[in-house]
Amino acid sequence: MTVLEVSGLSKAFGGVQAVRGLGFTLAAGELLAMIGPNGAGKSTCFNMLNGQLRPDAGSATLAGTSLIGLAPHAIWRLGVGRTFQITATFRSMSVRENVQMALLSFHGGLMRFWTPAAARHRDEAADLLARVGIAELADRACGILAYGDLKRVELAVALANRPRLLLMDEPTAGMAPGERAALMETIAGLAKRENIAVLFTEHDMDAVFAHADRLIVLNRGALIAAGSPAEVRADARVREVYLGAGGAH
Ligand code: ADP
Ligand code: MG
Repeated sequence: MTVLEVSGLSKAFGGVQAVRGLGFTLAAGELLAMIGPNGAGKSTCFNMLNGQLRPDAGSATLAGTSLIGLAPHAIWRLGVGRTFQITATFRSMSVRENVQMALLSFHGGLMRFWTPAAARHRDEAADLLARVGIAELADRACGILAYGDLKRVELAVALANRPRLLLMDEPTAGMAPGERAALMETIAGLAKRENIAVLFTEHDMDAVFAHADRLIVLNRGALIAAGSPAEVRADARVREVYLGAGGAH
């Protein structure tokens, strides 16, 4: 089932055509990597899909519903989760409390005022933490967590919204290689088990080729290749402008 359908997506900043006529589709349970050198237009694309930026042209639909012109919150409500290049959690709160906050927001309309805040969605929060592999960290303050664990909290927060699409712009930025591989494995497992479509960018080509079902390659805002990891690896143009250049971006 196609979850995300993008066509002709374009955005310019002044004289810079950051994204030009980008089109691709993404199916439920599929892990799609968007790669390309720095400045290729990856983040601009993410920001058009999550509502931070309005495209100059093109369409993007989530299960048939247009995302164009919707505010970030409206897109979140439709079931698009995201993680940030800069981690956004409340440092003084515990891991569990951060996830409970996200669940309170998701269940918003159903405020059960007779339940103390601390008890609300406690079990659901524990379940989410188990799914991202940090059940044992529930009572720690987020401020003292290792960076990789913080990223997992962020993933649990995104999952609280029961997304059908996850947008992850450099989810493993700043991580050690081992941590990075482990997080990618968790993300891939979630996509498969829970049938979530995942679009992600990643600098580490080993992680991309190990986990992505399919890749799209951007260069100067344009799509230059798309296909399976093997197809993209063998693509002469990709080698020339990107992999062959020795820049692992
Ligand atoms: P990537 O994420 O692939 O590194 P970006 O989408 O961040 O690429 O950037 C694509 C191009 O658009 C770059 O040339 C960048 O300088 C430019 N750009 C991105 N955001 C802005 C902005 N807010 N204002 C002006 N130029 C921008
Ligand atoms: Mg970027």
